[in-house]
Amino acid sequence: MKRILLIGAQGSGKSTQAKLLSEFLGVPVVSTGEVFRNLAASESDEGKMIKAILDAGKLVDDKITSEIVKKRLDEDDCQNGFIMDGYPRNLEQVNYFDPQFDKVFYLNVSDEEIIKRLSVRGREDDTPELIKTRLDIYSEVTVPLLKHYQKQGVLVEIDGMGQVEKIHQDLRSNFL
Ligand code: AMP
Repeated sequence: MKRILLIGAQGSGKSTQAKLLSEFLGVPVVSTGEVFRNLAASESDEGKMIKAILDAGKLVDDKITSEIVKKRLDEDDCQNGFIMDGYPRNLEQVNYFDPQFDKVFYLNVSDEEIIKRLSVRGREDDTPELIKTRLDIYSEVTVPLLKHYQKQGVLVEIDGMGQVEKIHQDLRSNFL
């Protein structure tokens, strides 16, 4: 079983690294951001509710998020493992549903570098205001997660400032 979490701020490169690690390990990436953006595109009540939250740069409700993730991880393609990108965002979510990660990688990138990278990404929700809202939420609620996984002994810190390929090799070296 390879139950892996990549944790890092917006623009830390976690989606890119998740994809590369997914190809190397042969397990799927489960990205909550992607799941929510897909749901937000639907005309259902749930879709409209999620779109409003995403447009405001806020987090989706912890219980709803946990239920959506739990269902996703029950699917066939996740039975040998998965690379999680975006869940949990806080300890409340872990209390609702704990994916039992074997390894948690923290991609450490400076704020300065993050702002530089996000301004060239050009996604619809990457306005300076929304970037700032998300970084504020991140530092408030995500840092306790790092402590939680450090205590569990599954946390591995990765220097996320270098080249994509070098960071990928650093991640891979944990599976040799
Ligand atoms: P991301 O692609 O990770 O930047 O996520 C985009 C948006 O999806 C976030 O700004 C949140 O509104 C929502 N989202 C993603 N993951 C979570 C989560 N674990 N809990 C709550 N909201 C989430």
